[in-house]
Amino acid sequence: MTSAVTVRVPAKVNVYLGVGSKQFDGYHPIATVFQSVGIYDEVKIESADEFTIIPAGSFRDAIPTDQSNLVFKAVQLVAQACGQDPNVAVTITKSIPVAAGMAGGSADAAAALLASDAFWQAGIPRSQLDAMARTLGADVLFMLHGGCALGTGRGDVLAPIMTRGTFHWVFATYKDGLSTPAVYDRFDKLSTLSDDYIPEVPSDVLAALTRSDIEVLGDLLHNDLQIAALTLRPSLAGALEFGLDHGALGAIVSGSGPTCAFLVKDEVTAIDLRVALSASGLVDQAIHTHGPVHGARIIQH
Ligand code: ATP
Repeated sequence: MTSAVTVRVPAKVNVYLGVGSKQFDGYHPIATVFQSVGIYDEVKIESADEFTIIPAGSFRDAIPTDQSNLVFKAVQLVAQACGQDPNVAVTITKSIPVAAGMAGGSADAAAALLASDAFWQAGIPRSQLDAMARTLGADVLFMLHGGCALGTGRGDVLAPIMTRGTFHWVFATYKDGLSTPAVYDRFDKLSTLSDDYIPEVPSDVLAALTRSDIEVLGDLLHNDLQIAALTLRPSLAGALEFGLDHGALGAIVSGSGPTCAFLVKDEVTAIDLRVALSASGLVDQAIHTHGPVHGARIIQH
């Protein structure tokens, strides 16, 4: 055992998100391009008399401190695998907006896997950590790896996508989140898809990514959950339109929303759009960052 381990983990945006019909197991098949972006949570593990979650950071009030926190399940999995009691204090310093479509809970779970493995010096093979990530949730595996990847199945069958350069993003975030199950329910109600439809990421999206052709990619951003999110939160349409009118090459709802993601051509345009969005009164916060960045990483050991 070591005294404390801290892991930093980024948020994600879905550059493309195709969603199929709900299957008998309750899951939807998806075909997505994940990109991790530079908004980070930190997860610190140190010893304690019992398992405790200590919320910190700008969104600390929205962090569950009971066993519903995915971090609890992640720590338990690693503790079981290496025969330890899960008596640790986990400080979650949250900068990733909660229930925002940026997979913050999954990010923390991925960070907790890595941090507890290092904390107990368990040496769990990467393939086994990957398997644990899959059992925690569909997005957790990507949050562990980061970068840019094609995700199929439930989003947990990953193939890395090589990109060049930096993608500049502006994110419009909201204090009130959207529930992912509620957005999927609305998607199901609106859907006219056949039961056997399996989504695919179009080849021109993958080609634009590998060429890092931002102009083309801006036009190809797509999210099958967007209409469902917009019917639940119609005001998002105004933010998307505002971004496109103020220099964004493309605008989409991120994942299940309500965060709106704007792809812009360079840093100057990003700063201009961030300032304009902040002043517009249409959003609670506007953040400028970039991707792709690394997945979960130990920063202090
Ligand atoms: P999804 O991965 O489904 O797109 P999201 O990014 O929209 O999710 P999260 O921030 O992951 O949303 O939070 C979704 C719900 O998960 C929250 O309402 C919260 O109650 C629960 N949750 C569990 N663990 C965490 C965590 N570590 N941080 C934030 N939320 C968590």
